[in-house]
Amino acid sequence: MTLSDLTGDDNTNLSPALRRARAAMTESSRQSPGMKIWIERSKALGFEFYLDSGSSSAVIFTSELESFLVHRVKTRWVKGGPNGGFPEHQYVSCSQFTISEDGSQWDSTKTPCLYCAVIGKPKAINVAKIYFRYDKPIQRKSGDPIVDGVKPLIVWQPEIVNTLLDSAASSVAGGSLLGCRFKVTRSTKDKSPRIGDSWVLNKKIDEQTLVTSKELAKYKAEADRIKFSTAFAPMSIEEQRAALTMHKAWSDRSGDDNGLGYDGEAFERFVTRRETPALSSETPAGGWAADTSLMDEVPEAGGLTEDIGASSEVPALDLGDEALVETPKQPAKPAPAASKPTTTEKPKSAPVTAATTDADIWEN
Ligand SMILES: [Zn+2]
Repeated sequence: MTLSDLTGDDNTNLSPALRRARAAMTESSRQSPGMKIWIERSKALGFEFYLDSGSSSAVIFTSELESFLVHRVKTRWVKGGPNGGFPEHQYVSCSQFTISEDGSQWDSTKTPCLYCAVIGKPKAINVAKIYFRYDKPIQRKSGDPIVDGVKPLIVWQPEIVNTLLDSAASSVAGGSLLGCRFKVTRSTKDKSPRIGDSWVLNKKIDEQTLVTSKELAKYKAEADRIKFSTAFAPMSIEEQRAALTMHKAWSDRSGDDNGLGYDGEAFERFVTRRETPALSSETPAGGWAADTSLMDEVPEAGGLTEDIGASSEVPALDLGDEALVETPKQPAKPAPAASKPTTTEKPKSAPVTAATTDADIWEN
């Protein structure tokens, strides 16, 4: 038996009563969508790496960048702050376009995407798993200060992506971001990116040192919980309708527009009146699942029992620290039986034979 045997969504097997139950749940989710469609995706991404204004951090890449074509959608209302609250955002994969193998164009899956129709074209983002250590630990309202950890990095700013790629092309980096350590600073300028506006490569940690690092081994479970293929799994048309319904509600509530490419008529047609765009029977391409990650090689920390969860952290939100939204810590889950990577090679890596070491990967 495989996981998909346990999670099939084929209705033909079901008795009429159960088919009715499933249809009722689907309709209920549509009428009152809540956060259901985001739960697994949020869990698989976790808290994004971010810096407070004026702060700095060391960052080591433990995976290469991976690219996704996504739409940015308002997912829920976060109470608090001087304006009484604000919408939280999430990225969701486009179901119509994917990035071609060499990246130079968008391929069509021939499956329509309601986001494309209603809020405009997707944009490319790049994600990676990074191991960070703040220069100055961040003290939150409750809990221990945040010193270091492993988080997903999400980069969409072209200038930062280019800086990272130029750094990777240097002789120091040797063509790969794996093991590259950056000094990252976020300026106090208005609208400085929360992932920092200055990324300076200062060292390449060799792979053996990294995968045998005791410090990094503490975060193996945390790193394994980050599943980009799940976080950016394309949605069904029905899920897209539910998400767009929320997106519009939160946009209206916050007085925002619905995004630059918003088309109210398309919303009426495809969401309100539930018209179905012509659907192809072709399987959507979703093959961005490769975890090109050093963390696969990092052994579990022996006997580690302390809580390394981010229980008191603030999620990466756009609008400051007012919103303390905690995500309950989730037990590690088995990987979903998701699409297998087809285009991304696993980086060659030295076999790990040594036990973990005390080598300080933060030393200069
Ligand atoms: Zn789209």
